[in-house]
Amino acid sequence: MQIEKELNMLSMRQILYGKINFIEGEEYRAFQFRFLNILMLAGVVVTSLLLVGVAIGANTIDPLHVVSMSIFLALSLSLWLALRGRPQRFLQLAWVYECVCMCEYISALYMVSADELRVIWFFTNIPGVYILLGQRAGLSITLGTMLGLALGNAYLPQPYSINAMATLLVALFYLGTFFHVYGARSISYFVRMRESNQRLRHLATHDPLTDLLNAGAYYASCDQLIHLAQRNHQNFSVLFVDLDHFKKINDTYGHEAGDHVLKSVTKTIVGVVRHSDAVGRIGGEEFSVFLPDTDLAGALKLAELIRHAVENLMPVVGNQGIRITTSIGVATSNQTGENMAAIQRRADQAMYDAKQLGRNRVSCFTVDG
Ligand code: GH3
Ligand code: MG
Ligand code: MG
Repeated sequence: MQIEKELNMLSMRQILYGKINFIEGEEYRAFQFRFLNILMLAGVVVTSLLLVGVAIGANTIDPLHVVSMSIFLALSLSLWLALRGRPQRFLQLAWVYECVCMCEYISALYMVSADELRVIWFFTNIPGVYILLGQRAGLSITLGTMLGLALGNAYLPQPYSINAMATLLVALFYLGTFFHVYGARSISYFVRMRESNQRLRHLATHDPLTDLLNAGAYYASCDQLIHLAQRNHQNFSVLFVDLDHFKKINDTYGHEAGDHVLKSVTKTIVGVVRHSDAVGRIGGEEFSVFLPDTDLAGALKLAELIRHAVENLMPVVGNQGIRITTSIGVATSNQTGENMAAIQRRADQAMYDAKQLGRNRVSCFTVDG
């Protein structure tokens, strides 16, 4: 039942907007895109209803204006269809639509004679312009509309009285000011929301001390990388790096010094691996490195590079550089479709072997341990 409901929602959304795929940080863009879709569709529906009204004799409109409304209808429908599946270009289409609308509103102003409401479309236009085209366009179009009405009134077939025109201008000014202030507030709200979402996402997925991926985020990204590797029939390897006798560093130099060492070791590991490798801090002084498209020989080479680089790091604690060593376990994919937990277990076993063999060494997992 729930799935059925979701499917219905999805198809409804697809009917309205086509296939859209905005990234998570683009909430305001996605909102603008949907708004433009609805606006165009509303234009199509309202114009169609008015034209049907004319066709059945319920509405009398100047024949020349019927032609202009039909053109507007055709253009709105074409732009709505052009918009579907083009979320990247929707702002250009919004500008084109605004020009089409302006032509139609001016046509209504001239051709719908003796109707006080013929100016209403200029009012409905302003909120949309602020939302879609922004503050500068909103202000320019509001002021342009006010100036155009004030100067053009004398040339209308049936001009508004001075009082009516003053009322229209005050109302337009009020509407423009309201949307200017409201638009500025809502955009700054969206920007702040996006920034705080990004901050929260980073906090939820990264370790605060080293800024590496935390265990949860690391394993999740490894699962994705494994999926990709298995689909492309590629090898992959995992290194499990554990610092040797790290407790002693804390006990001798204090916890802060231990933290400093962890940060230095992190920099060293990140400096050695490739950009496409994933590094996570999966425990206190334990790191895991996922190496896509890497066989056992390549993984052993990189593990040795890391071991050597950490050994030569000599981070300064107090006034002296201290020697840090690591034990590294290596495991490689074995074509059995195993998941991250299984391969990490094998790397763990190999790291344990390295500890047993005397530490400061690289060991790889073999079937007989
Ligand atoms: P081994 O060679 O067998 O790995 O010995 P070890 O002392 O490194 O291993 P053990 O797991 O016994 O100790 C890990 C230590 O790491 C214990 C803990 O105090 C320290 N540790 C864990 N997280 C942090 C941290 O965030 N900062 C600091 N400074 N120390 C940490
Ligand atoms: Mg350790
Ligand atoms: Mg440990």
